[in-house]
Amino acid sequence: MRLTIENLKAGYGKVQVLWDVSVTVEPGEFVAVIGANGAGKTTTLRAVSGIVKPTGGRVTLGGTDLARLSPTQIVKHGLGHVPEGRELFGFMTVLENLELGASVRAEAKAKKSETLEHVLTLFPRLAERRAQLAGTLSGGEQQMLAVGRALMSRPQVLLVDEPSLGLSPLLTHTVFGALKEVNREGVGVLLVEQNVLQSLKLASRAYVLENGRVVKQGLAADLLKDPGVREAYLAL
Ligand code: ATP
Repeated sequence: MRLTIENLKAGYGKVQVLWDVSVTVEPGEFVAVIGANGAGKTTTLRAVSGIVKPTGGRVTLGGTDLARLSPTQIVKHGLGHVPEGRELFGFMTVLENLELGASVRAEAKAKKSETLEHVLTLFPRLAERRAQLAGTLSGGEQQMLAVGRALMSRPQVLLVDEPSLGLSPLLTHTVFGALKEVNREGVGVLLVEQNVLQSLKLASRAYVLENGRVVKQGLAADLLKDPGVREAYLAL
């Protein structure tokens, strides 16, 4: 399924954050959105998943306009979201958190045990800790759980917000490796990251967001060589 974000405008109350954001994720594509703090990356993902209501523009998933759908209906439609801050249920176990991820979509419920096995293979650490309370996991383990829970809904497009935040290079590598694997299996990924070098290496295409507007886009490999991007985001 293709995700299209066209001329998106959104904000919080009277504060407009997104002025003109257009991003496309082709079926099975891995796309990154990079940009400085406060550029509007998180808000873009929230507007796609229906947590923030857009004030203008259009978001479609597989041709369906998401404007009138609730966040739950958007998940049912095939969108997974790994939110910033993870938003896990700390007093529930790893397994219970994962099972919740499968509770919304009929196709996810039907294939719950199969998907669970797959997620636990992707993240053996979660398998070891399946009975542990989510709130007692390390930051990296929580991030894996947040990705795992989103995968339990068997999404066709996965939004991922800053998965490397607060993680050691080793755990970042594990989480990014899992995203790559999921993408290889056909899931479209829209990754928002401050770790610009890593995300441009993972993605095939990328967009640069500044002050709520897309100011640059292209093949990730080209952006890696772009002098402006290197100076502003890679400190090179
Ligand atoms: P970061 O990398 O720091 O997370 P970002 O690019 O994801 O930044 P957003 O989180 O989308 O940026 O924030 C964009 C702007 O919107 C910021 O100025 C922020 O202060 C503001 N903002 C975010 N969430 C809210 C909110 N709930 N209420 C009011 N303003 C908000």
